[in-house]
Amino acid sequence: MQRLFRVVLGTALCSLALAATAQTPRHVVVHAGRILDVKSGKLLPDATLEIEDGKIVGVTGAGKASIPADAVRIELPNATLLPGLIDAHTHLTMDPRFGYETLAISVPRQSLTGAKNARLTLLAGFTTVRNVGAADFTDVALRDAINAGDVPGPRLLVSGPPLSITGGHCDNNMLPFEYHATEAGVADGIAAVEHKVRENIKYGSDLIKVCATGGVLSLGDNPQHSQYSREELEAIVADAHRLGRKVAAHAHGAEGIRWAAEAGVDSIEHGSYIDDAGIAAMKQHGTYLVPTLYLGDWMIENAGLAHLPPPLRAKAQEVIPAARKNIAHAFASGVKVAFGTDAAVYPHGLNAHEFAVMVKLGLTPLEAIQAATVNAADLLGWSGKVGTLDPGAWADLIAVDGDPIKDVTTLERVKFVMKGGEVVRNDYGK
Ligand SMILES: [Zn+2]
Repeated sequence: MQRLFRVVLGTALCSLALAATAQTPRHVVVHAGRILDVKSGKLLPDATLEIEDGKIVGVTGAGKASIPADAVRIELPNATLLPGLIDAHTHLTMDPRFGYETLAISVPRQSLTGAKNARLTLLAGFTTVRNVGAADFTDVALRDAINAGDVPGPRLLVSGPPLSITGGHCDNNMLPFEYHATEAGVADGIAAVEHKVRENIKYGSDLIKVCATGGVLSLGDNPQHSQYSREELEAIVADAHRLGRKVAAHAHGAEGIRWAAEAGVDSIEHGSYIDDAGIAAMKQHGTYLVPTLYLGDWMIENAGLAHLPPPLRAKAQEVIPAARKNIAHAFASGVKVAFGTDAAVYPHGLNAHEFAVMVKLGLTPLEAIQAATVNAADLLGWSGKVGTLDPGAWADLIAVDGDPIKDVTTLERVKFVMKGGEVVRNDYGK
């Protein structure tokens, strides 16, 4: 028995040693054909990035870097390096399932779906993700598991259950009264929404998500209707901000967009029916727009629309073209934009397909890349830490072939991913 114990203990120590040697090296040097400065759009040729303890300590051009003797060298001579991408709107714990299909998926099962999707998202080049809505606190569990090194995934900022009025977009409206089915984030009235914000923070939410208007993929509501009152929105923002949390507002309808911006939310998600009054309110309050556009293309290209329950399909067919037109107008009006996808409505890992749609609707490729780097970092409150390759930032980077400023779809084919100085993908093979 004692012998067996020694063997088991020996094996355990051996795997601990293996884990220790697999740790990120102290010094890493990445040499690339080019580095894209996402602020200026300039390409720095023959550039070297120095990394120490998972953070960037230096960027130099033309082989000027002095390399520490113990540094691990990574050679990417034909690649363009840029900061790891940021998606400000995902639902990692969900897959594309709609309506009554969703009722059969347990909360524990959703956590495991999250582990799968976190890995796919990281491999696609998204090293930071804001998760805006998950059942119970599955996203908090996922964030903590990633931070503990239990499962691979991006850096996560998570909302926990989104706040919703009774019967609103983020409630469960699929079952009759006798089931008493209510989503965890449902709260009505000033006192109740204040309590819900505090409860979400108690259980680990990094930010607050609120469903300010109706939505598309929910039963019994209208995307154009405002759901929370102005007073409730103001109470949510006041409590969240006092407790150091940003607020993301799901809003399709024009009135709800304006009310949420005037209440001081940090971002409008989707923004489908945004009008000039909403644009003016967002500019006045510095609110970010997080449009989620590629999901419409995916729905059409993959017969996703046909797969939707009829009432949801009818809403999608109306909202998708209207959103294109209105978001293009918002882009032209110069509203601040951060990159988001709503991945979960379509399979995770395709997030970068959003870039081409943003460009089609009027952003330059550089502006679209800025939306997914410096702008999203600002929205998340992580400026200088992510979305940049400046010294002091976490060593989160990606590499692609060619020049993403000339062809933004190259970001759909990310070949190298590093998070915190650790290589998580290298198709260049070295
Ligand atoms: Zn969403």
